[in-house]
Amino acid sequence: NPIIGVLALQGDVLEHSRALERAGARSRRVRRSEELSSVDALVLPGGESSTIDKLLRRFGLMEPLRARIAGGMPVYGSCAGMILLADRILDGIDGQQTVGGLDVTVRRNAFGRQVDSFEEDLHAPQLGAGDDEEPMRAVFIRAPWVEQAAAGVDVLATVSTGPAAGRIVAVRQGALMATAFHPEISGDVRIHRAFVDLVRAHR
Ligand code: GLN
Repeated sequence: NPIIGVLALQGDVLEHSRALERAGARSRRVRRSEELSSVDALVLPGGESSTIDKLLRRFGLMEPLRARIAGGMPVYGSCAGMILLADRILDGIDGQQTVGGLDVTVRRNAFGRQVDSFEEDLHAPQLGAGDDEEPMRAVFIRAPWVEQAAAGVDVLATVSTGPAAGRIVAVRQGALMATAFHPEISGDVRIHRAFVDLVRAHR
């Protein structure tokens, strides 16, 4: 089974480790560049993207991480992790950088403030939530959305109802996957399973 790291600088690390193991992977915490070298793939958890950005730079992980992404390492980013994977960011905190790799523009805190956190059932055929399947329960917490995706980016899910209907909330491009929501909280393991499959396909 592949060894998948969870970036453990800030955010909900434990929940991702559990979800990865339920999806058939082995999980490791990653805090140092030596730890990054020893994993087959990486999860960037939710948390606060500007804080994780600062810590990545302080811990000397930013450049090693960019190098591994350029080398084809699969990465899945959830919420703050989606922001970190994006090449371009709107409404970032002053001076905020991203790791990049995913050819999208994300809008940080796009749905509004903390009180606007919400849950929704998503239709996502490529993630095992198609017409005749259980919809995917998605938890959004001060979530970003993808404002623009380049031609090579696969859109996996959009919001179906309400004022944000049509907004892109799950994408994949090559070995990179990102969701604006938190599957590690809803207990729905289909996203982690799709990521483990992607990691196996890239080994
Ligand atoms: N709003 C947070 C950010 O900007 C993301 C929130 C989350 O990861 N749940 O990074």
